Amino acid sequence: MRIDILTILPQLLEGPFSDSIMKRAQDKGLVEIHLHNIRDYSTNKHKNVDDYQYGGGAGMVMSCEPIAALIDKLQGERKYDEIIYMTPDGELLEQDMSNTLCLQENILILCGHYKGVDERIRQMYITKEVSIGSYVLSGGELAAAVLTDSIVRLIPGVLNDETSALTDSFQDNLLSPPVYTRPPEFKGMKVPDVLLSGDFKKIEAWREKEAYQRTKDRRPDLLQ
Ligand code: SAM
Repeated sequence: MRIDILTILPQLLEGPFSDSIMKRAQDKGLVEIHLHNIRDYSTNKHKNVDDYQYGGGAGMVMSCEPIAALIDKLQGERKYDEIIYMTPDGELLEQDMSNTLCLQENILILCGHYKGVDERIRQMYITKEVSIGSYVLSGGELAAAVLTDSIVRLIPGVLNDETSALTDSFQDNLLSPPVYTRPPEFKGMKVPDVLLSGDFKKIEAWREKEAYQRTKDRRPDLLQ
């Protein structure tokens, strides 16, 4: 899988992809993540990528030309399954969306700044608009990092234990059950006996019951 991320601040995205699971996925050749600086495609002598908004009002708008030039160049090199714009008014990111996107071959993600990108870019190029929650961030980079992480960890072979993503929250519309590790007793609090029993049928039944209870208590909407 290949993910191209278009941003005016590529340095903001270097950290999240240079460690842990995201780094291993790239080292294993399971995903390529390419960061592109939109500013490099500005033909303006000051390398501007934004301008005042028509109609007046506070806040700059990201201009069409450098974004279009960069997307045109990338589209000339390969076909993208999705061209995504990170935006608070997009479709809310849920596990289902990541499950679907992890099956794609080429994804392009556009990060906005200021008041966002000129509407014509959205209409002309964008195939999917994604929000990571009902709040406003300063830029799309953190949102793009969240989306990318949630996709990449689902690519087969990325996680060491292949089944561990399947038992995470939101797969099967359930939250994850509680988990414990050694020691069996910590400050008087004991690990539930069933988890020490070695009886895998009982352990599975306990986990299912706990996952259901936790979902009912915290996210009853998932059970509907
Ligand atoms: N004027 C926009 C609005 O009110 O919807 C907000 C622009 S925001 C300051 C700048 C950029 O951050 C957006 O273009 C988008 O790329 C990104 N962004 C902010 N909040 C986001 C969210 N909840 N989900 C995804 N991207 C977000």
